[in-house]
Amino acid sequence: MLSDSLGKIKAIVGANWGDEGKGKITDIMAADADIVVRFQGGSNAGHTILNQYGKFALHQLPSGIFNENTVNVIGNGCALNLEYLEKEIAKVMEGAPNLKFNLMIDARVPLVLPHHILLDELEEVRRGDRQFGSTKAGIAPFYSDKYLKECIQINEIFHDEHLQYRLKHLYERVNLTLQGVYNAEPMDYMDVYARIMRFKDFIQTHMADASSYLRKSWQEGKNILMEGQLGALRDVGMGIYPYVTSSHTLAGFAAIGAGVPPYAITDILAVTKAYSSCVGASPFVTELFGEEAEELRRRGGDAGEYGATTGRPRRVGYFDAVATRFGAECQAATELALTGLDVLSYLDEIPVCVAYEINGIQTKDFPAPSLLDSAKPVFETLPGFKQEIRHIRKFDDLPENAKNYVRFIEKQVGLPIAVLSNGPKREEIVEL
Ligand code: GDP
Repeated sequence: MLSDSLGKIKAIVGANWGDEGKGKITDIMAADADIVVRFQGGSNAGHTILNQYGKFALHQLPSGIFNENTVNVIGNGCALNLEYLEKEIAKVMEGAPNLKFNLMIDARVPLVLPHHILLDELEEVRRGDRQFGSTKAGIAPFYSDKYLKECIQINEIFHDEHLQYRLKHLYERVNLTLQGVYNAEPMDYMDVYARIMRFKDFIQTHMADASSYLRKSWQEGKNILMEGQLGALRDVGMGIYPYVTSSHTLAGFAAIGAGVPPYAITDILAVTKAYSSCVGASPFVTELFGEEAEELRRRGGDAGEYGATTGRPRRVGYFDAVATRFGAECQAATELALTGLDVLSYLDEIPVCVAYEINGIQTKDFPAPSLLDSAKPVFETLPGFKQEIRHIRKFDDLPENAKNYVRFIEKQVGLPIAVLSNGPKREEIVEL
């Protein structure tokens, strides 16, 4: 039995392809959180947050950044791009000039370096029409270097000779690749060194042993939130490989990427939208096309159906219970947050994908990625609620058909919906 005096660690993660609305949910929950932690990913995706200061796309900063009493941690599992972070902080400060934000960066966070971005770009060009649709933030080359044990962690920048030695050896290999594979100009490791050193004071100010801080805080009873980026189906292991990100997007990885005991993460809230959306190339079983897609994308306009980081139009479809149940199971979710219910208010009927048909056989189990292209959605159709619902704050006040839709999704996914969001604004939440 864990002691009652221990804190609560809650993870807020995506059940689908990302863009589920985690930013809004985390932003709300961050108000009561002592600490908000990013445990994976980098500047390649983003959360959209709408608050009293305006609308912000956060990429590397944790969503508690606008709350001065919250400590915002970038954990060791993240990919830290200092130059992008500088810009992101500048944008936040532009909107909230008097904000005294509280940022802690784990000493073990590795840096995204200029060659990661360059290699990402060169590789997409080399792939031509077989592109992954990378956001070109250097994430795949970064995680490749991480597992080659050649990344630079921020703690290393305080040891000059050691850092130069590591960079020299790293760029020996990088330059062989740049010149030999891509016929590109080599890079001077001392230029990279200078670009990193510009941030020495900034790192000095924010660097800490975050894992140790988090473990102590947990023991002291603090309220800690782990904030996931992207969704379960983009996890490099369990997701729809190779259309995944290069890190682990699952709550289980928060134990490693933040450095806390796995059994400390007791509450896992998987966020899912009342319909599906997906950015970039990948199989997408419930995808809509033509007018029907255009309408849903337009209605979801406030739901930012254009990627927070990429501005690319999102592909949209009806709710996919097969993918969502799988995603929630991968997340080991204990409850669901359902967002974007308001977006569906125009539909006469709301189809929900309850099974896949693969090679003539119906299944409710999400298949191995290579079977997804042959999966066809099997829909069950529910009556629409045909009413604007953004102003409604109590579940009982929702139209009967909206309530039925919510209950149907709970049943299909097999988890209770603990948070119901019916609009992009912070206060647009329905009490359950
Ligand atoms: P995240 O990465 O999971 O945080 O998702 P994004 O922030 O990229 O995309 C979610 C979008 O949906 C943002 O534009 C939010 O403002 C918006 N949003 C969140 N919840 C709701 C909701 O309940 N209804 C509507 N219409 N939009 C929402």
